[in-house]
Amino acid sequence: MLICMLPDRPITELFAQRGTLRSLEFFPPKDEAGVEALRQTAEALRRIGPDFVSVTYGAGGSTRERTAHVSDFLRRDFGFTVMPHLTCVGHSRAELETLADRINDGGFRNVMALRGDPPKGDPSFSQAPDGLRHASELVALIRARQPGICLGVGGYPEKHPEAPSAEADLANLRRKVDAGADFVTTQLFFDNGVYFRFVDRCRAAGIAVPIVPGIMPVLALKQIQRFTSMCGASLPQKLVRRLEAAGDQPDVLEAIGIDWALSQIRGLLERGAPGYHLYILNRARSALTLAAGLAA
Ligand code: FAD
Repeated sequence: MLICMLPDRPITELFAQRGTLRSLEFFPPKDEAGVEALRQTAEALRRIGPDFVSVTYGAGGSTRERTAHVSDFLRRDFGFTVMPHLTCVGHSRAELETLADRINDGGFRNVMALRGDPPKGDPSFSQAPDGLRHASELVALIRARQPGICLGVGGYPEKHPEAPSAEADLANLRRKVDAGADFVTTQLFFDNGVYFRFVDRCRAAGIAVPIVPGIMPVLALKQIQRFTSMCGASLPQKLVRRLEAAGDQPDVLEAIGIDWALSQIRGLLERGAPGYHLYILNRARSALTLAAGLAA
């Protein structure tokens, strides 16, 4: 039987229709067992009906094919609107154009366009031969090649670690939006004040697109200390003290993480955030518990 699937709807249309959007982020698993586990996670998450899901893009090798594979089955078998991520790392312009065509031909109408993190072991990003240096260039490339694709980009409320100043980083975000980005998803943060100050600075700099807060429900203190030290986000002392007091009890730590994320999301939506994007680390439980908490 030939199944004819309509292309996804661009996220810009979903914003216009629904006002606020809830989205979830997956990463491509390392092996087939992980892919199977991800299918089960997706099945469990179907019932909370996210507006869209995104799939990250690794720095090289088979993980990149898994992004395509996972994106395909999340769309085809689970009916999600899927936004694959794409990065400049290791790709020439010609390869990026081919990838943009392939994404469009696969029925996707949304891409998160990023420069990307360097491969493990490389101390810094280096431009591929005939490749791109900045995410703004990738936005421009996809916009020219596939104008029907809606483009998200990353934003950094506490500054990208490599940027010399918050002003320089903001000027870069403006370049990405001027090149054609339709919305911004932020790096994770744990203090809503950080997000609202960032949005104010963006608006003052003429960035008018939706800025979606990225929220990560914490699972463990060491893990979140590692993430935040890599991405430059700050960890409030109040949260650290609560996690320290929980010691080595995974269920208690997870409950604290969910409680913190729940109050962040409530506060964000009350003050007009255009939705929220959950970094769920391929786990269904925190997203399901948060959805139940928000519905209560
Ligand atoms: P850019 O916007 O290019 O910025 C990178 C740095 O260069 C910044 O310091 C910026 O200020 C500076 N810069 C940019 N343009 C200029 C210019 N013209 N002149 C001078 N300086 C400039 N990584 C992955 O590998 N895969 C993923 O799937 C992935 N998903 C992500 C999703 C989100 C929502 C976010 C926020 C991040 C994600 N990342 C991912 C991490 C991201 O790739 C890294 O943060 C990376 O270091 C920067 O990517 P970028 O797209 O923000 O780069």
